[in-house]
Amino acid sequence: MLNGSCLCGAVKYEVSAQLGEISHCHCVQCQKAHGAAFGSYAQADKRAFRFTDGEENVSCYRSSKNVTRTFCGVCGSTLQFIDGQTPYLNFALATLDDTIDEKVTVEIWCREKVSWWDHTMTIDSHDENS
Ligand SMILES: [Zn+2]
Ligand SMILES: [Zn+2]
Repeated sequence: MLNGSCLCGAVKYEVSAQLGEISHCHCVQCQKAHGAAFGSYAQADKRAFRFTDGEENVSCYRSSKNVTRTFCGVCGSTLQFIDGQTPYLNFALATLDDTIDEKVTVEIWCREKVSWWDHTMTIDSHDENS
C-alpha cells in the first residue's frame, strides 16, 4: 500500500496495487498544471486509487474532451490525470509520501518540452537552497 497527500494535507490517498508506467510528461498542459518543466506521473488501476481523507477538497478541471485533472482546492497541489476512456489513471508522483523502488521509465510529449531544461545538461546541484 502506498500513501500520498497534497501540500497542505487536506487530501490524502492510497494506492493499493502495483504501479504501472512511470513517466515525465512534457506537454504544455502539464507544464501549466504543475507550474514546472514537466509533470511526473505513475499509472495505477482506477480501482486501486482511493481518497482516504478530504475528498471533498478535491477539485476537478476538464483539460480536454476525455481528460479530467484533479487538484487540492485548498493548496492547489496537482493530484490526478484521469482519462475517461481507460481503466487507469495517472497520479502526480511527487505527492506520494512513501518512497518507491521503481524509477521513471519514459518521457512523453517531448516535442513540447520547455527550452530551458534538458536532462542531459550538467547544472550546479546543492543539498539545500544554494
Ligand atoms: Zn492541499
Ligand atoms: Zn502532460
